[in-house]
Amino acid sequence: PVLQTRSLQKRFGGIAATQDVSIALERGARQALIGPNGAGKTTLFNCLSRLYIPSDGDILFEGKSILKARRHEIATIGMGRTFQNVALFDNMSVLDNVALGAYLRGKAGVLRSAMRLDRVEEKRTHAEAARAITRVGLAAHVHDAAGSLPLGRQRVVEIARALAADPALLLLDEPAAGLNSQEADKLTEQIRWLRDQFSLAVVLVEHNMRVVMGACE
Ligand code: ATP
Repeated sequence: PVLQTRSLQKRFGGIAATQDVSIALERGARQALIGPNGAGKTTLFNCLSRLYIPSDGDILFEGKSILKARRHEIATIGMGRTFQNVALFDNMSVLDNVALGAYLRGKAGVLRSAMRLDRVEEKRTHAEAARAITRVGLAAHVHDAAGSLPLGRQRVVEIARALAADPALLLLDEPAAGLNSQEADKLTEQIRWLRDQFSLAVVLVEHNMRVVMGACE
């Protein structure tokens, strides 16, 4: 499996937000995590991507425990994610937003690259970002400010940013929240296409069951 958890648990004081979660995901799997508000879905994502330190249990990524991995290493080891609330830099172009994902793979590091200290690196990351943007069908918006796009497209920009780091696993937290039904259908198609095209594993947390049933196995 690309991802495995063993009896994963996260407690906040007396509340067990997730308890005894043992899952295994194969490469290319498309799965959804569903449940009512407060069930612990985002908490699980936050444990997987190391934003939270689990209270108990283990997380294996491609067979190795990542409990000791540092937070900033998660994207570089091949796990990409998006967030419940869109987290883009509104005034920056789509290209620059997505390039932040590609920088994570580079040798120069985000800071050096952001300060334009490494021209070769900058060229590479922009080329990779442009490729990820084309993959998700947003080539026409490369130079638009991210904040000028409708919400549905902004969510896809976030997916492109995660893809630019070349993940083996993509975690999407409520990608259809706030989308109209046409945008949600388009997103569903894109999720299926991503998996078919790149055989990455995709897990989504989603309340829109039409998206869940359409995008997942
Ligand atoms: P939703 O569908 O509303 O996003 P969810 O299934 O993602 O819900 P979580 O946000 O993971 O649920 O919350 C699970 C439980 O953990 C809830 O009872 C919540 O109040 C609690 N919880 C989550 N984060 C924290 C935190 N940082 N501190 C304390 N309690 C928390």
